[in-house]
Amino acid sequence: MDPLHLNTQAVHAGYTIEKEFGSVSQPIILSTTFERENGVPREHIYTRSENPNRISLETKLAILEGGADAIAFASGQAAAYAAFQAILEPGAHVLIPDDCYHGIRSLLSQVYLGWQINAEEVDMSAVSNVADAIRPETKLIWIETPTNPKLKIFDIQAIAKLGAEKGITVACDNTWATPFFQRPFELGCDLVMHSTTKYFGGHSDILGGALILKEKGTLSTRLRSIQSAGGGVPSPFDCWLLNRSLATFPLRMPVHASNAQVLAQFLHGKPAIERVYYPGLPSHPNHEVAKAQMQHGFGGMLSIEVKGGKEKAIQLAEHLQIFAHATSLGGVESLIEHRRTAEGANPRSPDNLLRISVGIEFIGDLVADFEQALGKL
Ligand SMILES: *Cc1c(COP(=O)(O)O)cnc(C)c1O
Repeated sequence: MDPLHLNTQAVHAGYTIEKEFGSVSQPIILSTTFERENGVPREHIYTRSENPNRISLETKLAILEGGADAIAFASGQAAAYAAFQAILEPGAHVLIPDDCYHGIRSLLSQVYLGWQINAEEVDMSAVSNVADAIRPETKLIWIETPTNPKLKIFDIQAIAKLGAEKGITVACDNTWATPFFQRPFELGCDLVMHSTTKYFGGHSDILGGALILKEKGTLSTRLRSIQSAGGGVPSPFDCWLLNRSLATFPLRMPVHASNAQVLAQFLHGKPAIERVYYPGLPSHPNHEVAKAQMQHGFGGMLSIEVKGGKEKAIQLAEHLQIFAHATSLGGVESLIEHRRTAEGANPRSPDNLLRISVGIEFIGDLVADFEQALGKL
């Protein structure tokens, strides 16, 4: 048989029907501890170290992303936290995108304050900026593409090549693109990070994160021990729920992308809209790179800048009826957010920027909603 298609793996990977009851849906094993036989542990010992539902989830995540090992965490931030702990050391130099998920930026500057990490922000849209920023003490290049919230596109393959030449670990936060649209391992990355809270979960009801490794080795062993000893693990129920959501992941993604493409085209050039950020628009400055490194579309996220500043932007968000004005992304329902408000103490987003997570509703209804809301401005 040929290797199984992504859609089949998304349904079946990580679980074979158990023998005792023949449960087609995997049972949720809530027990935190497991009986030993003659004093010898059987497969499982204690749920912080491993649990049947978590093993199933990790198996599926590794397969979907095309990696050798996946390590699940209680949130995307917990996953990034573990990656920084495993790869960095006090005083380390790390390159992060200048437009980066704000939580990652504040993790490095605030939570790791005592480590004096030198996190240098680089506009990775030009690979030469990355080359120029690399130093002998650079330990990690952290890519996020498309970026949050300006949807900048970085050439993963070119950046990963620079990292490989200098022996620097290259990680990619693939939360927005997901392996459906973008395959960082095939482009040379060593590590992929996910907030599984977003498209993998897909229904705005599970918090989770994961690190996926291209190869098993020193780094995966170290991360596994941080997961177990650090204890930032997802519950069996969260793992089960995420496993269930992943079954429909490859079916949801094309709808997110085609809806986002149509909405971006509709908003592009509207008199009330100053700017549309979407990598699927030919006017996007790195559209060609996006076309080359993404497949099946350009994802379900876009941002817009509204003419008339913050006030008009908030008005537009409030006039929308289908789009909920809320943070987060990747769920089946469409969301819109005044991003600067959500960025806490050190906001970076322009005051008139709205970030849109396009859901899987009927696109005609989403466009009509914008049409009526724009009409009220
Ligand atoms: C949401 C998000 C995170 C953080 O994940 P949590 O699950 O909220 O902890 C990290 N990176 C990106 C790109 C995100 O969208």
